[in-house]
Amino acid sequence: DSPVAVLCSGGDAPGMNAFLRAIVRLGLNRHKVPVLGIRGGYRGLVRAAKQVNGDAAELVRLKLEITANTGNRGLIDAQQSIIQMDHASVSGIMGKGGTILGSARCLDFHKPEVRRSVIQLLENLGVRALVVAGGDGSLTGARLLAEESNLKIIGVPSTIDNDLQFTEMALGVDTAVHTLVWAVDHFIDTARSHRRVMVLETMGRESGDLARMAALASGAEMVITPEGGPLTEKSMMAYAEEIEGAMTRGRGHAIVLIAEGVKFDPPQSRNGAYILRDAFQKYFQREGAPFQDLEVRPSVLGHLQRGGHTTPGDCILAARFAEEAWKAILDPNAGNGITALQHNKATMVPFGCADLPERALSSVAMDRLHDDLSSW
Ligand code: ATP
Repeated sequence: DSPVAVLCSGGDAPGMNAFLRAIVRLGLNRHKVPVLGIRGGYRGLVRAAKQVNGDAAELVRLKLEITANTGNRGLIDAQQSIIQMDHASVSGIMGKGGTILGSARCLDFHKPEVRRSVIQLLENLGVRALVVAGGDGSLTGARLLAEESNLKIIGVPSTIDNDLQFTEMALGVDTAVHTLVWAVDHFIDTARSHRRVMVLETMGRESGDLARMAALASGAEMVITPEGGPLTEKSMMAYAEEIEGAMTRGRGHAIVLIAEGVKFDPPQSRNGAYILRDAFQKYFQREGAPFQDLEVRPSVLGHLQRGGHTTPGDCILAARFAEEAWKAILDPNAGNGITALQHNKATMVPFGCADLPERALSSVAMDRLHDDLSSW
């Protein structure tokens, strides 16, 4: 039976392992279709293609092994990039962050001739579909493969950035928000004890969604996102004034979240958390200011947001996405596409589909909710 291949690409996201477990178990238990795991994302495929394409004997060996190993654990190899997934290979991984298959960035994949070699490999191996779990860039690579071949290609949004506008949630977001709430809780303890303003920089690339959700769930007093436009000296002073006002009314501390994608006018090369710290400090220490001893501490939270125990929310979303992916793989009338969550329903959308209009609105609604909840 022709196998399905699965890989993880780009930045790792919690939920990738839960997804791998679901895609493998549904394949073996429900659909009786073997699943090949590709190690190291597109890079693994490119490496395997280099070894196998043009080597007829090696191709025959690989195909024999794929057939012989159906349902059994086994290393199929091609420089250790392709493995047969069995029940045990995805045992005990559901809650673990990262991905057991490994992920990678592969610049070569931007070249059409490299993608052609990968298509040739997958066709020669008789792979019926390739499933790609990754973020925006990985899904662009998947779309190109779909356009350039007759293979069935299925994308699965997996990125803590939540910057994909056709889905309400990507895999990993729920866990990253959970981690940020945990981090804010820790920072509040010290902020409260020392009368401090903590400026915490979150991930999210060009999107403020992660910061916004974390602010809503943690009660952070302020959240600054790229969607609000570039920060100027004047707007930073206005934020500082708002904090000073709250302090005058008896507030002792503040947590400010700033998304990594926030731009400045004029442009700056340093992390936003540090620029904001300097601006706030300057404001608080101006002559005659009431809180000249108010300290502002910046922290760039970084990759801590990408790891950790996967939340039940992400594990459940992973299972729902895997089920949608299988439906699309097995339905001869279904085209290529990406799994998505729309109106809280798991579904498939075509590559390059239009954004979900309510998705943008929900950011506005979230901002408004946060504003009203955090009035201080
Ligand atoms: P995240 O944003 O969560 O880190 P991502 O999938 O967006 O994940 P990228 O580094 O943008 O991460 O992309 C991952 C890989 O996808 C790239 O290294 C490359 O192999 C492939 N890729 C990205 N963009 C393209 C493109 N335009 N054409 C072909 N392949 C691409």
